Amino acid sequence: MSRERITPEATAEEEHFIRSLRPQRLDECIGQGKVFEGLRISIQAAKERSEPVDHILLHGPPGLGKTTVAGVVANEMGANFISTSGPALERGGDLMGILTNLDRGDILFIDEIHRLPRAVEELLYPAMEDFCVNFVIDKGVHARTLRYQLKPFTLAGATTRAGLLSSPLRERFGIVHHLDFFPVEDLQKVVLRSAAILGVPVTEEGALEIARRARGTPRIANRLLRRVRDFAQVRADGRISGEVARQACEFEGVDEAGLDGLDRELLRALIDVYGGGPVGIDALAATLNEEAETLQEVVEPFLLKRGFLSRTPGGRKATAAAYEHLRLSPPERGPTPLWQISD
Ligand code: ADP
Repeated sequence: MSRERITPEATAEEEHFIRSLRPQRLDECIGQGKVFEGLRISIQAAKERSEPVDHILLHGPPGLGKTTVAGVVANEMGANFISTSGPALERGGDLMGILTNLDRGDILFIDEIHRLPRAVEELLYPAMEDFCVNFVIDKGVHARTLRYQLKPFTLAGATTRAGLLSSPLRERFGIVHHLDFFPVEDLQKVVLRSAAILGVPVTEEGALEIARRARGTPRIANRLLRRVRDFAQVRADGRISGEVARQACEFEGVDEAGLDGLDRELLRALIDVYGGGPVGIDALAATLNEEAETLQEVVEPFLLKRGFLSRTPGGRKATAAAYEHLRLSPPERGPTPLWQISD
């Protein structure tokens, strides 16, 4: 099976494509009912008070719409959207430069906020709480702190690992939303919407087939649509029917449960090398020659959600559904203990 992976992370080459499909307003957003309902209220309340929206923390696996949500809030508020990321803000000065240039009501989006260096994170506390930053000038006995007042703004932080956020940072967000995997019906709507924007002819069944195989992730649904479109153009009459979508996805190494090469490899390693587990993530990562972080952030969440993997205190275990999916038989459990046999 193919190892090629339809990762939820965007490559630079895809940025343009992704941007053209990204919903701009609340009414264009699909699914995530609770999140958008909550945001609608927060936005209206802030507008009525002529204040910026409270700071927003968005967490969930990659490709589920964290950047989209932050951008939509900016559009709905009629505010500027300034985007950066935790690893890009290496030094305090990097963040100071951005903060001091913000206009009233701007949305500052920090992706991967769990990867902010500690010293930079600490600068955010007064910025979030009192809209001020403290500069230290001079050194030693002459050191003085100057307070610089910022314009009120909204910080929108996104993270795939909410658990890695320090509690002082987490507590400073007034609005916290978890983005969950999309159900197939919602992903089908995403595919139909994107196909309409791109002018790709797709049937309801074609969209459903792509949706079923998109790992619950709109970014993957859009990416698959693009690949299936190429396949339909070259191998069929250009129209994406259910059958064309199925063939194209198989060709891409995406199976009927939406698992791709790396998903299956992880389950296979767990079963073949570690007898189904339990096994620690580092051992699995070493076997697969992958970063443990990638497995934790990108691969595992969907396998857990689909019930192919379970997490136990001793490590990861393959479930009966995983054996069934890979058409393997579960390990022998040995004879049933006498005390469990009822007559
Ligand atoms: P994240 O920031 O969580 O990695 P993005 O916001 O970049 O995810 O979303 C990836 C793509 O998924 C977007 O380009 C957009 O086309 C699509 N998408 C995300 N959320 C929605 C939604 N609610 N409705 C329709 N499409 C969406």
